[in-house]
Amino acid sequence: MTSTAPKDFSVAIIGGGVCGLTCAIALSQRGVHVEIFEAASKFGEIGAGLGLGPNSLRILKELGVFEDVYEKSGENILNMYAYRYISGMDGHEVLYEYPVEPADRGLGIARSAFLDALVKHIDPATAHFKKRCINITPSQNNPARSTIQFADGTTHEADVVIGADGVKSNVRNTVVSNRPGPFATFSNTLAYRALVPYDKAKNAGLKTDLSKGMVCFVGKDKHIIAYLIRGGEVINLVGFVTVGPVPEGGSLPSGHTWVEQAPEEKLVKHFEGWGYDAVTIMSHVREPSKWSIHVVHPAIDSYVNGRIALIGDAAHAMFTHLGAGAGQGLEDGLVLARLLTHPQSRASNLEGILKVYDELRRPRAQHVWESSLQTGEVYEGRGRLGISPAGISQELKGVYDFVWHHNLQEDIDSGIHLLLARKGRVQ
Ligand SMILES: Cc1cc2nc3c(=O)[nH]c(=O)nc-3n(C[C@H](O)[C@H](O)[C@H](O)COP(=O)(O)OP(=O)(O)OC[C@H]3O[C@@H](n4cnc5c(N)ncnc54)[C@H](O)[C@@H]3O)c2cc1C
Repeated sequence: MTSTAPKDFSVAIIGGGVCGLTCAIALSQRGVHVEIFEAASKFGEIGAGLGLGPNSLRILKELGVFEDVYEKSGENILNMYAYRYISGMDGHEVLYEYPVEPADRGLGIARSAFLDALVKHIDPATAHFKKRCINITPSQNNPARSTIQFADGTTHEADVVIGADGVKSNVRNTVVSNRPGPFATFSNTLAYRALVPYDKAKNAGLKTDLSKGMVCFVGKDKHIIAYLIRGGEVINLVGFVTVGPVPEGGSLPSGHTWVEQAPEEKLVKHFEGWGYDAVTIMSHVREPSKWSIHVVHPAIDSYVNGRIALIGDAAHAMFTHLGAGAGQGLEDGLVLARLLTHPQSRASNLEGILKVYDELRRPRAQHVWESSLQTGEVYEGRGRLGISPAGISQELKGVYDFVWHHNLQEDIDSGIHLLLARKGRVQ
């Protein structure tokens, strides 16, 4: 059942990244008044490419934005159709090829292109920039509503606040009450990200055929993810380097930022002694950015507090090793939006709705979080069976299944069922 009748409540989304925008689209399509508050001066994504698995693509299709995303990607096929795990050492032995059914193909896309496609579906009048949320308090006029305070001294009132403000979330401070922050920890994982022209690498003798899909070069405490974007012209490259015990690295030493430019030589040095193709790709990197990967750890005990909810990295920033972080945020956004736009949702039962959202989403997202961690351990030789064809294939077999094949509609249906069953005691 869908509803397009206007609701008697309003929603404010803090953060206009991929998860905030997707949730805004899903809400506004079904009659909820939503305003987006973004800290930056315009919508924009930092970083290079993003892999969208079949679960993410189903959400984009359901929202009617897939065609625009696909067009912006510049691809003429769903380009993530094979996942090969290759030794990073000389010889580059193929250790495992993950079987991908045609229905499971994904899309590798430049982040900026993905965001551009989503922005087309946002009413510009509802987007507010240079609005950094610094605090949320109960409204003085009606304590059930929230007053959002921004760094520029202005405020905004809404019935529901959705924190889509990423791994460094400020909204999270208002939601988590069981322990003091910080809630995001440095994971002892560095990710060097860059785009490399595929032609240049091939001309320098790169033998691994990247036109056959994503490649993960595996090795001790390091791995490289490489796949083509922009119609096959550019390699989206991430070189991962583990510098200590995972996942708990505490806080970065003062003076270090989470994302910074890195000298090219440093990256090449990290992969010294690796095989020809790994070194060749790395030596063609220009102006890499170095990301000190932070994850939400330990897991927070709730994604909601009253009428304030977290989605995406604000709730569960995770390791990137299953390429699933954004996908989980898209799932959050769709589930929350479908519950809020149910015909029986109204201002009087918002707290119950958010509680059901939390019950549905936290176990699933945390499961993906744990599996992402374990998958990285396998890539870097810290799995149970080590780096060998038998070890890698056994440990990675079926690893994407539960991420890709989850039935989100069943979750939404059971959430609605729960809400109806609890009617009268959820206010
Ligand atoms: C190296 C790397 C590779 C990855 N690869 C993949 C992949 O292949 N597939 C995948 O699914 N995921 C991947 N991820 C994870 C993915 O990037 C994130 O999960 C996703 O971007 C999270 O989206 P978000 O909207 O929650 O947060 P963000 O994209 O971080 O957006 C948050 C937004 O909130 C704004 N903001 C922040 N603070 C405030 C504030 N106080 N007030 C107002 N606005 C604020 C920010 O400016 C930003 O626009 C990868 C991550 C990394 C680091």
